[in-house]
Amino acid sequence: MSERPTVRVDVAERRTVRVDLAERGYDIVIGERLLETAEDVLAPVVAGRRTVVVTDAVVRDSHLPRLAQALERLDIRWDTVTIPVGEGAKSFRDLEALLERLLDLGIDRSTVLVAFGGGVVGDVAGFAAALFMRGIDLVQIPTTLMSQVDSAVGGKNAINTRHGKNLVGTFHQPRIVLNDVSVLESLPRRELLSGYGEIVKCGLIRGEREFGWLEEHAPALLAFDSGPLIEAVRMGCETKARIVTADERDRGDRALVNLGHTFAHAVETEAGHGALPHGEAVAAGLAAAAALSARLGHCEPSIVHRLRSHLRNAGLPDRIAALASNRHWNSGAILGHMSHDKKTVAGRVHFVLLRGIGAPFVDGSVPPNAVLEVLDNECRRG
Ligand code: MG
Repeated sequence: MSERPTVRVDVAERRTVRVDLAERGYDIVIGERLLETAEDVLAPVVAGRRTVVVTDAVVRDSHLPRLAQALERLDIRWDTVTIPVGEGAKSFRDLEALLERLLDLGIDRSTVLVAFGGGVVGDVAGFAAALFMRGIDLVQIPTTLMSQVDSAVGGKNAINTRHGKNLVGTFHQPRIVLNDVSVLESLPRRELLSGYGEIVKCGLIRGEREFGWLEEHAPALLAFDSGPLIEAVRMGCETKARIVTADERDRGDRALVNLGHTFAHAVETEAGHGALPHGEAVAAGLAAAAALSARLGHCEPSIVHRLRSHLRNAGLPDRIAALASNRHWNSGAILGHMSHDKKTVAGRVHFVLLRGIGAPFVDGSVPPNAVLEVLDNECRRG
């Protein structure tokens, strides 16, 4: 599918992934220490235009000074608006507060909104950009591994309501995504690993070469070796970009990016939202999806073993029982949550399964007893 990934990347090297959506197409630029030299990447979008950076207090304090250097060199009028830290900001209340704040600033339809932060900032700022005067330009500068490879790519945004997560939102593609891997060094280890869970998913979707590359290079990239880290982010973005390009509005093939997620979402619901890092639930979900694929005879059991050992070696849970390990997981309750998943179509749970590494497919007719059998095993301790 792709050119052979390079193992060594010069410090100054940048990689670009194109999200090919005709007039809504855009580039994802990936590299090291991009923030302080962001002016050339940002200029095609923001030069000569008023700009508002939406961020939270944590990202503002640790990373804004470096982005500010680039904005100053662009010689534009720019402001910063902060939203609260954490998932709670994905609410009607905080969205409203942000929109009112933008109106207070007196910005207009030609203003560019820059989402500078993790997934929450990307969602709330992206939603605000879609709504403000019926849509203004958006730039994504994600600052977590999870958002760099997943949520900042593809144009989806959403907030949570009392009915559940991500049920209210829009599609609003950014004009550019800037992924500076240097900001990832300040992430807590657990958050870095959580993002890596989505990269493992991408390797499984892509093929033997990509998954094998991750097996070989995970220790280096998780130790912030910039060459492998840039390559892993590139592979993750490219995987998401290809799938999004094929199905921008999430009506068919985009489901493939949900490999492991039917299990992950059900486990997250059972744990209580926010109790587990998303990527840990995804890691356990990938193992469960592979085990279900093997149980149904779609793939070799050796793939399940290989995936579990890669997850363990990386420091991720390799089964549901390895999540929050002091907890007893109830397989029946997890199965129950699946039928309420947003991705359920006409009452049927759609699983993304594997015929092998690089061969995901959607199956809407998996017998519930097979799922329960797999869940029993994935939840069993010891
Ligand atoms: Mg995910």
